[in-house]
Amino acid sequence: MIQVTTATLQFDHWQQTLARSITDPAELLERLQLPDSLLPAARKASELFGLKVPHTYLDRIRPADPADPLLRQVLPLGAELEKTAGYSHDPVGDHAASLQPGLLQKYPGRALLLATGACGIHCRYCFRRHFDYVASNPAKQDWQPVIASLAGDSSIHEVILSGGDPLSLTDTKLLRLIDMLEGIKHIKRLRIHTRLPVVLPERITSALCDGLASSHLQTVVVLHINHANEIDAAVADVCQKLQHTGSWLLNQSVLLAGVNDSVAALTELSERLGDCDIHPYYLHQLDRVLGAAHFAVPDEVARQLVAKLRDSLPGYLVPKLVREHAGEFSKTPL
Ligand SMILES: *Cc1c(COP(=O)(O)O)cnc(C)c1O
Ligand code: SF4
Repeated sequence: MIQVTTATLQFDHWQQTLARSITDPAELLERLQLPDSLLPAARKASELFGLKVPHTYLDRIRPADPADPLLRQVLPLGAELEKTAGYSHDPVGDHAASLQPGLLQKYPGRALLLATGACGIHCRYCFRRHFDYVASNPAKQDWQPVIASLAGDSSIHEVILSGGDPLSLTDTKLLRLIDMLEGIKHIKRLRIHTRLPVVLPERITSALCDGLASSHLQTVVVLHINHANEIDAAVADVCQKLQHTGSWLLNQSVLLAGVNDSVAALTELSERLGDCDIHPYYLHQLDRVLGAAHFAVPDEVARQLVAKLRDSLPGYLVPKLVREHAGEFSKTPL
């Protein structure tokens, strides 16, 4: 008889949900009762960067509302085909900062590992929408070259797992990677940049939580939430679970026109994050990636929005407004 453990069941479950994600623009429009007139542009734009929305996220989108702030983050639009001056394939200089396939270092003390190219959702504004993950995949060789470089550089105290979304890796792969990082004496902190707890809460398995809780590294989970409507009861619940592992929970958002570029939306987001024990960390000005110009908010408007937040929220619920410039040693405060 085959033994099925709880761990395998959970594992299968989130992977199956992810595999059943909507990738066909026609299906997205139909499910959300949106007009067919959106289809030709959605098809064209999704040829450049595919559509991907799991049902767990779709359920939070209001039907029949083309302006829904969650829909706007995932619906491919004709505007993505426009070439805008100042917008490029690699706006933040990832290519120049690459130490070797899958490993980037821009800032002192911290190295960023592109653990996988896969994501739980495709965000239309993503600055890595053109990134060549196939050429940069370090998992292929069981992380060996990356682990060897990290072990050889004692100035690195923090490893940031990024991607793609590092939680798209299976627990087995991820925990093995964490295990290898724990073997490097000078590494103190492990940071995970992820959107999966929000997009697909069931991804937060007990195996993952146990792994984080038992790690001797200080673990920091940086979520990516842009709108209060993204935080439903299931999301709040897994944030509690992550909190109980002893990890710090932070959030970064991207300021996006038509999604969260209002005082009301940003205030509600911060309040909701606070309710869930998540600290707002960064509010990013959009990286100028080709195809995302329609999401841009002018710096002046961004500054005014954050000034208004400061007037009405406790200081710890006001995120830092920053922009990333290629070649600088930190994100730049605005
Ligand atoms: C943003 C980023 C970091 C982390 O910066 P913090 O300011 O510490 O959050 C590290 N490495 C790279 C390549 C980054 O883009
Ligand atoms: S989850 Fe993150 S890396 Fe993936 S598409 Fe969205 S913004 Fe980009």
